[in-house]
Amino acid sequence: MTDTVEDVRKGLPSASAFGRLALCPGSFMMEKACPEESSPAASEGTLLHAYMEQLLTGEPWEGTPLTAEQVELCERALRLLAGVKEKILDYPDAFFSLVSTEERRFLSDWIEGGEYSGQWDALFRVGSDLLVLDWKFGRVDVDSAEANRQLEALVPLAAQKANEEGIIYNGIYAAIIQPRVAGPASVTFYDDEAISQAEQDSLAVARAAMDPDAPRYCSEAACRYCRAKAVCHEAASMVEQASLIATDRDKWELFSPAEKVQAYRLAKTAKKWAAAVDYRFEQDVAAGLIPGFEMAPGRTSFTVTDPSGAFSALNAEFPDEVTAEAFAGCCKVGITELDRLVHAARKAADPKATTKASREWLRQLLAEYGESKTTKGSVKEVEGGAA
Ligand code: SF4
Repeated sequence: MTDTVEDVRKGLPSASAFGRLALCPGSFMMEKACPEESSPAASEGTLLHAYMEQLLTGEPWEGTPLTAEQVELCERALRLLAGVKEKILDYPDAFFSLVSTEERRFLSDWIEGGEYSGQWDALFRVGSDLLVLDWKFGRVDVDSAEANRQLEALVPLAAQKANEEGIIYNGIYAAIIQPRVAGPASVTFYDDEAISQAEQDSLAVARAAMDPDAPRYCSEAACRYCRAKAVCHEAASMVEQASLIATDRDKWELFSPAEKVQAYRLAKTAKKWAAAVDYRFEQDVAAGLIPGFEMAPGRTSFTVTDPSGAFSALNAEFPDEVTAEAFAGCCKVGITELDRLVHAARKAADPKATTKASREWLRQLLAEYGESKTTKGSVKEVEGGAA
């Protein structure tokens, strides 16, 4: 039998959820009653974490082959780690060694077995300090290392391991590396006092979450990744508020910027709530649990995967009509696949070639044979906003 997330965590809060639990303590008990969810992004995250672990330990990779983009992403993560190392080492040759990867530990200051657990992606000794590290492969910028609750909860766990294993250290660096987000890694430092404060704060988050009557507070940040959205009264109430927001004054122009921001945030939460309801409903329909609904069959599409073979077959049938030129007029080149092919060729010639540089090179070379289109931009929150 394989271990479930619940088994591995022994039913206790886990550091990875502390950002949400600090905002909404009641979400821990709510999520416990919800099934695990899978998504392509989560599967990719698991794959990339495993690949990074192999890169750090030097073990051969025997998992699913990665795409060129994924390999490049992991290489960027390593470059960002080198940047962290450079930033925190007193001198270039100072001691830097891997202590452990993907290790889960439990912590409590009085209960045997622990009150919460956390798993770091990597723990290093750096000079006379430790470095605890978390990879994030999503596109959404997470809280900085300084404000990050997950790292805050991991730091006392790293201290506990060092104390148990007689590893001497002065303090602990904590870093988040997000290779899909521009800029360097985010790093912060915990001295003795900050480590014990982190332990107290993290235990407080865990204890609040374990309270069966813990309150629930809905916000976009808290609810974004919460699996309980579809069944949570607070989340549903927020959606209701979103529908009422425009009733006081019926002109968008009369809203203040702060009210517009509020409406925007409500709308974002409402969309996430709707997606969660869709997901749960679809699962029930697929399981035949909802009378009057069934899953319609998916649509089948056909794609030519071997254009030269397809051309030969058609040209043999209709040599005068399906000419090379006429057939080429029916073809579209998959730019993602072409990017991959060209990048592999450039990388073979120059190991330092990056995916980004290969993309730019290809677009320049093919400028007269294709066209570029730019999509509408998306809203991005910047510091000093209206609310
Ligand atoms: S959906 Fe939001 S309010 Fe409800 S439990 Fe989850 S985080 Fe809390």
